[in-house]
Amino acid sequence: MRDLTSSFLELIRLAATDLPAEVEHSLQTAQAREAPGSAAAGALETILENVPLARQNSTPVCQDTGTPIFYVKFPEGWSTRKLRDQIRQATAQATALSYLRPNAVDSVSGKNSGNNLGDDYFPTIHFEETEEQTLTADLMLKGGGCENVGAQVSLPNAQLGAGRDLGGVRKVVLDAVHKAQGKGCAPGILGVAIGGDRGSSYYASKEALFRPLQDTNPDPKLAALEEQLTDEANQLAIGPMGFGGETTVLGVKVKSMHRLPASFFVSVSYMCWAYRHRSMVVDGADVTYI
Ligand code: SF4
Repeated sequence: MRDLTSSFLELIRLAATDLPAEVEHSLQTAQAREAPGSAAAGALETILENVPLARQNSTPVCQDTGTPIFYVKFPEGWSTRKLRDQIRQATAQATALSYLRPNAVDSVSGKNSGNNLGDDYFPTIHFEETEEQTLTADLMLKGGGCENVGAQVSLPNAQLGAGRDLGGVRKVVLDAVHKAQGKGCAPGILGVAIGGDRGSSYYASKEALFRPLQDTNPDPKLAALEEQLTDEANQLAIGPMGFGGETTVLGVKVKSMHRLPASFFVSVSYMCWAYRHRSMVVDGADVTYI
């Protein structure tokens, strides 16, 4: 089986240091909306000054390089054991090259492993065999501050006055954004999952974040909900880094899943402005980065 270690290393370098153009563009649009001279405009200006410097110097876009979360879709015949080894080797190399900050801390001893390798869950790697002939690896670097302000609620929820419908989902999402204030490093992008069990619901909420920022949900009801949530979250006036202003979120992506009759989970994964994600497609001898 082909050794993709150096390709995974490049995927990590790009994710950590080269913010996707659509995110940068969205931040530029947000800055243009803010009042000139305001704290919000200043925060976005600082962010936008740093983005090209990070790209040019191959240095991290943010000092917290987050949890590396890989989603690998592979054709029949590949070994997930070998792919996992290659991803882990690439992760350690990326840490040695300072593309990643050493972030893997033993939860009992408090000791940092120093190379971003922890147990089987760090880095997080999801595998799925597909019928495609190409291998696709999506990587997201999920910052700790924004992960801390994610939320999961079992509906109905009396405190929020939220029932088991899209109106209830709306209340959960807006409550999560309100509670986060600036702590998630706004402006954020929200991945929302409706349904599933607790585990699959959080998983799907992160998967939803891989959708392009400007796309439209194919389900008209969810598309309308995404638009409404984006507008209403921005009316909360939390603003960039919590400084107040027009832009609290850059977008909302909602995924609906089947659920047990007894359960109705809503999971919100909050992604900070440093929405670092990249994809790699391996087609025969060719490797393409998106
Ligand atoms: S939440 Fe995001 S922007 Fe904030 S410190 Fe962490 S990685 Fe950086």
